[in-house]
Amino acid sequence: MGRERPGTAGQERQITDPGAGTSQIGEASAFAGTGTPVCVVCGAVEGVRVLDPEQGLFRCAECTHVFTLLAAAGQRSDGEGYEDEYYDAEHANWFAHPNVALFRLAHSQIRERLGNGPLRVLDVGCGRGDFLQYLQRNDPKLELWGVDLNPRPLPGIDIVCGDVMGHVMDEELLRGFDAITGLALIEHLERPDLFVRRVMEGLRPGGLVIMMTVNNDGLFYRVARTLNGLGQSAAYRRLYSPHHLHHFTNQSLRRLMRSSGLEAVFQENHNYPLRAVDVPEGSPALRAAYTTVVWGLFSTSTLFRNGILQTIVCRKSP
Ligand SMILES: [Zn+2]
Repeated sequence: MGRERPGTAGQERQITDPGAGTSQIGEASAFAGTGTPVCVVCGAVEGVRVLDPEQGLFRCAECTHVFTLLAAAGQRSDGEGYEDEYYDAEHANWFAHPNVALFRLAHSQIRERLGNGPLRVLDVGCGRGDFLQYLQRNDPKLELWGVDLNPRPLPGIDIVCGDVMGHVMDEELLRGFDAITGLALIEHLERPDLFVRRVMEGLRPGGLVIMMTVNNDGLFYRVARTLNGLGQSAAYRRLYSPHHLHHFTNQSLRRLMRSSGLEAVFQENHNYPLRAVDVPEGSPALRAAYTTVVWGLFSTSTLFRNGILQTIVCRKSP
């Protein structure tokens, strides 16, 4: 899939974790002392198995999480930049057609669960600010904040340039948010567990966390894996390319949130708008065939609720 959020690539490398010393998973490394990969979602060492040595892909039997270790594959992140041309070239369709259904879902969850009063909302990895601008248009009672390594200024919205894991968000500032969102963000982070802990710090008691990420059990993923087993690896390589380091299942995403004391109050699988699909280069016939196949997979997986994406809503205990 094509969605990457600006600022996340740098964030992976800049994580500092005040709690790492007390973490059950040790230092900010994905390897145990023996050199064995550790699952950053559940802390398991036993049961972590190599799925694909070439891609550096592992699966944790304990929590079903699938993840990429770049060091294990001897590779680096593909280094996609998040400058303006990024939005306009390879992922033009994606950025031209924001996922308004997702924005509506997140907004309705915030209002249904937190009431109709004034609220402070922070979108981490806000990028161009599509989601924040949607909220601004539809809900003037929200005080809106965004943070990103490469943000665009947005009138009427407090935009902070930098890494939410560092000190860019003043400790006093990153406190008391009613809701914190991260849409298409955590699959890019080397340590999503540390990120969720940071989010917990910034959330007021009773506040909401909303995360949208990939669904490794989705139909699109299953078909890609099956095709890969049959020697057709294009879709598989696209899905598991190292710009996504984490491929969450419904179970492993809930587990990640629970490890920081966040219980899910809502979780749903879904797709993104068909118009937003970025069709690979090729002949018109090939592109039409690709679009038709994606349409079929999206329609079927919407019907059976196993789309390529998932959204979770968690509430911090009051
Ligand atoms: Zn695990």
